[in-house]
Amino acid sequence: MADCLFCKIAAGDIPSNKLFEDDQLLAFYDIDPQAPVHFLVIPKRHIDSAAVLTEDDAALLGHIYAVIAQLAARLGIAENGYRVVTNVGADGGQSVKHLHFHVLAGRSLAWPPG
Ligand code: AMP
Ligand code: ZN
Repeated sequence: MADCLFCKIAAGDIPSNKLFEDDQLLAFYDIDPQAPVHFLVIPKRHIDSAAVLTEDDAALLGHIYAVIAQLAARLGIAENGYRVVTNVGADGGQSVKHLHFHVLAGRSLAWPPG
């Protein structure tokens, strides 16, 4: 999608600090980390947010969570735990309108979030 930051990152037009890539998704470190480990997982295909997901996206979402689990094991954060979150819309705190999953770890995370 034109003028979408994460579409440009997925296409390689804007550089990112990549952790993992395949035909469906890309995982890269967040540019403004909110925890000692903070990376994002995005589908390469443009999806506005979790608000427009349908049953047809089930396989993609399963793949995203499987890759997150593999990356968590690789990065050594699986044992102590981590948080996966996707912000939706203005009140959800979504600033980039391309579906993305934050993975945060490396410290005890507060709940409820601010
Ligand atoms: P959200 O506020 O949930 O939409 O999350 C967007 C995230 O994208 C924020 O945590 C930003 O720090 C991150 N971000 C913005 N631009 C970049 C970039 N060029 N590379 C990596 N992460 C970015
Ligand atoms: Zn996009």
